This record gives sequence, structure tokens and C-alpha cells, in this order.
Amino acid sequence: MLLDGKKISDEVKAELAEDVRQLVANGHRPPHLAAILVGSDGASETYVASKVKSCEKIGYSSTLVRLSENVTEQELLKEIDAINNNAEIDGLIVQLPLPKHINEQRVTERVVPEKDVDGFNPINVGKLVLGLPTFVSATPMGIIELLKRYNIETSGKHCVVIGRSNIVGTPMANLLSRNSNPGNCTVTLCHSRTKNLEAFTKQADILIVALGKAEFVTANMVKEGAVVIDVGITRVEDSTNSRGYVLKGDVKFDEVESKCSYITPVPGGVGRMTIAALLQNTLLARKNRVTHIKYQNHVS
Ligand code: NAP
Repeated sequence: MLLDGKKISDEVKAELAEDVRQLVANGHRPPHLAAILVGSDGASETYVASKVKSCEKIGYSSTLVRLSENVTEQELLKEIDAINNNAEIDGLIVQLPLPKHINEQRVTERVVPEKDVDGFNPINVGKLVLGLPTFVSATPMGIIELLKRYNIETSGKHCVVIGRSNIVGTPMANLLSRNSNPGNCTVTLCHSRTKNLEAFTKQADILIVALGKAEFVTANMVKEGAVVIDVGITRVEDSTNSRGYVLKGDVKFDEVESKCSYITPVPGGVGRMTIAALLQNTLLARKNRVTHIKYQNHVS
């Protein structure tokens, strides 16, 4: 069965739009997300554009700050400081990757934790590890929401995650090993040094794939009846397509689909949920500012 990220993200967005209507009806301004885009990488442009468009559709305000590829790190940090100090803005994301001359760690640390709706600031990452209320990185948060809304049993299951990035694999492993629902999995976190990867993936009740290699996971690597979550998005050249490329996941969908109980498509799966989670975090940031109370989000 397909885990339909488009359908579920549309549901989430409709709920958020209703929350915004109520916020505004109570005399508050709507949530405001700012995004900084450095350079003009095609994929980054697409991601930022769809985040901004999603904001508009559900009644959020948004600001897109475009900086040239050659911007200095100091100039970028100054922009971040300006948004940090702007009381009219609730959430700030800096689209990654950044040009090589800019230190990503210094940049993510500069976004104040209260506006860090991507959940990349080390303070928010630390809170996530401790199970405290915080902004959870959008992709793993979106996956948790998808598992939840499809009522997929996770307790006692063996979850294998491929990829240990700070934004996907590592927080994913953390969230699913927690004593919570979804959660309570026994988690194996695999990476490029894992020996005999297939021996692990074949044991997975839930297989989460985030390594960035198109169609890497084949049917022989998957257990019958597994839940497969495909995070990967790779542009693969295709001259028959008007854009010149097609998007591929990390899972060979055509041959894996018939073997599993649930699977996410690419596109229309995790990517959609990532945007929905970012919007959830932005509303949370807004509510925190309205009430000065730290709301707990659903994966806290
Ligand atoms: P990343 O930073 O590129 O890291 C890739 C991870 O995969 C690393 O931990 C690496 O291991 C591991 N890896 C690489 N080759 C491997 C192999 N042959 N066997 C096992 N592990 C291997 O990852 P990311 O930023 O999480 O991105 C992963 C993919 O997800 C990309 O396609 C990206 O575009 C996509 N993505 C999608 C969304 C979405 O919203 N759908 C969001 C974020 C990312 P080492 O640590 O040992 O190098």
C-alpha cells in the first residue's frame, strides 16, 4: 500500500490553515516564515519556492531573502541577525547546501533556537536527544507524522535506517528509539562503513532509506511485508522528459513495491511531509511567541 505523502500533507496543511484562521480571529498576526537562499542551485530554488508557496496557500506570511553565490559568511550572518531581531518573523530557514566558502555549522548555530524551525541549531538538536520539547528536524518529523496517520505499529519493531546525516538519519534513529508512539523500535543505524548492509536491511520491519543514491535498495534487500520509507531525491538525467531529468528515490520502487506492506513514492512521499512538518514548526514558533509558553509538539 502506498503511504501517500501528498494526501496526508494536504490534510496537515488544511488543519494548519484552520489554526491560522483562529489565530487571526483572535487578533494575532499569522505565522511568518523567512527563508534565505544563497546562489541559484536548481534543486534548492525548487525546494525554497515550494516552501514559500505552501506558506502562502495556508495563510502564512513569508519572506524570501536571496543572496548571491559570492556573498561572504559575514554578510550572511548579518542577514540572519537581522531576521533573528525582527519581531515580525517567527521562523527562519537557511536553505542548504551553502557554497563551500561558507561554514554551515556557524550558520546553523547563528539562527536563534526560538526561530530555528528546521531544528538544526545544536541547542534544539540537544533537546531532541534528551526528549525535551523542541523543533524537530522537518524530514524525520514528517516521517513520524506519516507513520502516525497510517496507524503503523512501531512498538517492538526492528527499524533499520540507512544514512546517518544530522538532518535525517540520526534524528530519525533517535525519534524511533524513544519510549513514545510512534517509537519504541529497536533501531539499527547503517552508514557507508556498515559491512554486509543487506544482512541488516533484510531484518527490517521498518526500513528508512536516506543515503542519496538513486534506486540503491533492491527487492533482495527487503523483507517480505516491510514498511519502506524512501527519503532519497536524486535528479537523474532523462532527455525524454521536458525538464531534462526525473526524480528518483533511493529505493527501486517498481521491484520493491510488491514485496512490502507500505511504501512511500518519490515524488509524493517524504518530500511533501517535510514541507508539512516545516509549516507545523512555524506555527509552533508563532504560538510560542503569542503565549510565551513553550508548546509541546507532537513528537516531543
Ligand atoms: P547525506 O548527508 O548525503 O549523507 C548520506 C548518508 O548515507 C551518510 O551517512 C553516508 O554514510 C550514507 N551512505 C552513503 N553511501 C552509503 C552506502 N553505500 N551504504 C550505506 N550508507 C551509505 O544525507 P542526507 O542529507 O540525509 O540526504 C540523503 C538523501 O535524502 C538525499 O537524496 C537527499 O536529497 C534526500 N533528502 C530528502 C529530503 C526530503 O524532504 N525528501 C530531505 C532531506 C534529504 P557516511 O556517514 O559513512 O558517509
